[in-house]
Amino acid sequence: MSEYKQYINKEPFKTVADTAQELNIPAYIIGGYVRDLLLHRKSKDVDFVVTGSGIDFARTLADRMGKDIEAKYFENFGTAMIRYKSWELEFVGARKESYRKNSRKPIVENGTLLDDLKRRDFTINALSISLNKNDFGTLHDEFNGVEDLKNKIIRTPLDADITFSDDPLRMMRAIRFATQLGFTIEENTLNAISRNKNRISIVSSERVADELNKIVMTDKPSVGFLLLDQTGLLKLIFPAFMELKGVEVVNKRAHKDNFYHTLKVLDNICKTTDNLWLRWSAIMHDIAKPVTKRYDDKAGWTFHGHEFVGAKMVPRLFKKLKLPLNDKMHYVQKMVLLHLRPIILAEDIVTDSAVRRLLYDAGDDIDDLMKLCEADITSKNEIKVKRYLKNFQLVRQKLKEVEEKDRIRNWQPPISGEIIMETFGLKPSKTVGDIKTAIREAILDGEIHNAYEEAYPLMLKIASGMGLEVKDNRHEPKPDTDTIKQDLP
Ligand code: ATP
Repeated sequence: MSEYKQYINKEPFKTVADTAQELNIPAYIIGGYVRDLLLHRKSKDVDFVVTGSGIDFARTLADRMGKDIEAKYFENFGTAMIRYKSWELEFVGARKESYRKNSRKPIVENGTLLDDLKRRDFTINALSISLNKNDFGTLHDEFNGVEDLKNKIIRTPLDADITFSDDPLRMMRAIRFATQLGFTIEENTLNAISRNKNRISIVSSERVADELNKIVMTDKPSVGFLLLDQTGLLKLIFPAFMELKGVEVVNKRAHKDNFYHTLKVLDNICKTTDNLWLRWSAIMHDIAKPVTKRYDDKAGWTFHGHEFVGAKMVPRLFKKLKLPLNDKMHYVQKMVLLHLRPIILAEDIVTDSAVRRLLYDAGDDIDDLMKLCEADITSKNEIKVKRYLKNFQLVRQKLKEVEEKDRIRNWQPPISGEIIMETFGLKPSKTVGDIKTAIREAILDGEIHNAYEEAYPLMLKIASGMGLEVKDNRHEPKPDTDTIKQDLP
């Protein structure tokens, strides 16, 4: 049998096979590449397992392949990586592994191909294709992985409790593969995740975040989050998200379940963006609803200020989840903070000044913000959804008109802090910021035009109200020459 010969009778596999023959060392393609080949998913990352040293094998192969490659050898791990054109080839010697209680790092010994297949996480990942002369192209499937691929099943090759307890990251991987591939986790395997959930504590938060991000990047991340919830993992890795769950009823009045709502928003936004951080914004947009929830007979349930509190919570949550504490985090904060603003515009009669303000606050992220707001419409009432979407179209139209007219997105007000400091002999201080803000607000509100000759007298007026005197009038606008005209109302 050599049913997969046709797929591997090409480079780089031929040269790997020639090297195996020259060294008289058995070599196999193993793991994810074989799985993806059978699923017709394209991949250029290939794992190879050889008996003996993966590093020695890769060195000989690298010599054979010549200079168009990049090779890296990781002596500590006994692995090697060769970059060949757009391929990434990983080599490892066949291993037998045994685990200790407090570490995901196994004790490793040399082993056979079968030993190596046994240490794989799932049957669908424990497939290998031979590169050896006598059985070139033969698929080795010790654990019925092909059957599980056909039936779309995630199952561990050995005892599920041992597999997950040995390396608890595999629990996250099971849920990630189920979400990514649209597979079902076999019942015993799923129950074993619930039983072993607490073992996740020995996995580094970075690894957990890595898998969580892969779930977030799938077409329908709710599948993964629901599995994380069902198995009890979500409560351990992201408790704040679990707080969103549940419906409270007072005087027969209930609020919506924000856990399921958020998952719907997340699924919705995945249809319009591949931006991981916009997807995270969807996850976080209502995160402060539980802490801001109030009930009173008049207003019913309210979540006043959840956008402000939510934006404030983001850094702490990012830190806990080991997500980056950089501009990506600031972007998510901004999205959470602004996520209600276009909704208000859609509900009220839209004034130019409200639109201008939103453009100023959102800057270049305005399109992403609109996507978030549109994803946030999860009503089951079709008529309502249609009406909201139509209103958002009007907001988009208005945003376009005002932006074309006022070019406000990356706008800087005409009076700088320098000018304020020099005119009134001030040092950098809150007063300078207050004057600057008051001028900016007046322009955004349409009280004055965005023109230097109108902003300057306003600055004098505001400062005089604060008891400040002009110390230097060199910035006073001179008719015609000193006028900075921008195309604003
Ligand atoms: P992806 O590239 O989408 O992460 P993959 O299956 O190729 O999927 P890798 O992390 O590249 O994942 O791992 C390659 C192979 O190594 C897997 O197919 C699996 O056989 C094995 N493997 C990876 N991680 C583990 C683990 N934690 N426990 C057991 N086997 C693992």
